[in-house]
Amino acid sequence: MTQPYVTLPARPYLSPPGAAQAASLYVDGAWRGAAAGGLREIRNPYDASVLTVVSEADTEDAAAAVAAARAAFDGGDWRRRPAAERGEVLTRIADLLQRDRAEIALMESLDTGKTLPEGEIDVDDVTAVFRYYAGLADKDAGRVVPAPEGILSRVVYEPVGVCAMITPWNYPLLQLAWKMAPALAAGNTMVVKPSEVTPVTTAKLVDLATEAGVPPGVVNLVLGAGGTVGAALVESPGVDLVSFTGGLATGRRIMASAAATVKKVALELGGKNPNIVFDDVDLDTAVDYALSAAFFHSGQVCSAGARLIVHESVHDAFTAELARRADRIRIGCGQEKGVQAGPLVSAEHRAKVEAAVARGVEEGARLLAGGVRPAEPELADGYFFRPTVFVDCDRGMDIVRQEVFGPVVTVERFRTEAEAVELGNDTEYGLSGGVWTNDPARGERVAAALRHGTVWINDYGPYFPGAEWGGFKRSGVGRELGQAGLDEYREAKHIYRNFEPRPQGWFS
Ligand code: NAD
Repeated sequence: MTQPYVTLPARPYLSPPGAAQAASLYVDGAWRGAAAGGLREIRNPYDASVLTVVSEADTEDAAAAVAAARAAFDGGDWRRRPAAERGEVLTRIADLLQRDRAEIALMESLDTGKTLPEGEIDVDDVTAVFRYYAGLADKDAGRVVPAPEGILSRVVYEPVGVCAMITPWNYPLLQLAWKMAPALAAGNTMVVKPSEVTPVTTAKLVDLATEAGVPPGVVNLVLGAGGTVGAALVESPGVDLVSFTGGLATGRRIMASAAATVKKVALELGGKNPNIVFDDVDLDTAVDYALSAAFFHSGQVCSAGARLIVHESVHDAFTAELARRADRIRIGCGQEKGVQAGPLVSAEHRAKVEAAVARGVEEGARLLAGGVRPAEPELADGYFFRPTVFVDCDRGMDIVRQEVFGPVVTVERFRTEAEAVELGNDTEYGLSGGVWTNDPARGERVAAALRHGTVWINDYGPYFPGAEWGGFKRSGVGRELGQAGLDEYREAKHIYRNFEPRPQGWFS
């Protein structure tokens, strides 16, 4: 098939393939190139072609971006503006996201490989997040604390300061919005660093924020490698808070490195999420949702239902149907109508997924579907991998314990409710999980017993901007979305006023 869209929309911050220059960093209200002239080619995962050339920052650029954010925080008016005004700017960003919905969805689809409808869903989700925090911006100025007569005790909220926002490649726009919207609402300034392989919609969102009226220096953008630019932001004494979404190993490194300057750290890390299916459900529906849970965005979802735990009495029927339908999933170009899942994000990432699958086979898990690259010659240049179902899995296997972050689902069996819960909790992660049962009491019991930050009963995947998102255990620290997602970006300050101070006499 011929790809219907081969180029990104022309934008000043996205240089065309082959360009010798780029101006994709945004510092103090201006687009500019990297100080050392660094460039990076960004590839389309569908066919490995070069989509665009962007600036590749180094530590000098990171320092300049932090300095701009620092100056805008310390001397600028963003945090001093009435909160309702900041809320209006967020509403404008939401409006602009909808104005450019088709363009942004296309950008995200080309950059990450996800399908266009997935890109559209992302834009709508992100719009809702900006609207939610626009509404919350001026709703909570603080509170008066009960105090004796003559004393006024108030708790007020202030922005934390300069925030570094480091995001992954699977949901570049969405993961940034979860951070940027509450941080702006609370009056912070920021330096944004997206994954080096998917910078396109991040640059676009920064551009829209400027158009919406965010003042110079409040939002700054650096593009580049995590180990250099990302690490420089985490180490910088000018940064007050690091909000990071990405892998567990990187999260550990960031937490340790932030300790030197005692920064606030918010971490959204990985998951190995159980999806528990009891024997009293409609199997057709449960299989349908299990497919989406495991294979949406080719499984590159932190909350993917990658670990099915199925009652032994329905196990064989369930897995046979799951594998049959997994084999029929249409993978291909994300911009082609009817394609259900795109490629993986990069050659490196596919190599990791393939290594995990090979290890699963070695450990004795049995492949019921996939486990290979697609046979279609037109997909040979892209980073594709077939939806993969493993059965005969047990909890000791790496394929069950490690996050694969690709189109791979494992299936374990259980006999009793207690065993299902025990398996579901037997993971170092604690991001999300699902439970399928027609017994409402059992659904509630299992949801209460699972040590995961989100539990879906008879569903899988949806979230609301107003409901907190985050991980138990090693899936993270802190929460995004909801009120708690705003509180991450606020300091509480107690102001105590004595109206009639008189000598206390303690030392007289
Ligand atoms: P990653 O950890 O490799 O990279 C994430 C970001 O961190 C990138 O911007 C990268 O450049 C940067 N980075 C890398 N090393 C760094 C360092 N030493 N210092 C500072 N920054 C550094 O993760 P990824 O492969 O891009 O994303 C996949 C991971 O993200 C998965 O584990 C997934 O589960 C997780 N994730 C979690 C959530 C959530 O909400 N909990 C959401 C999406 C993705």
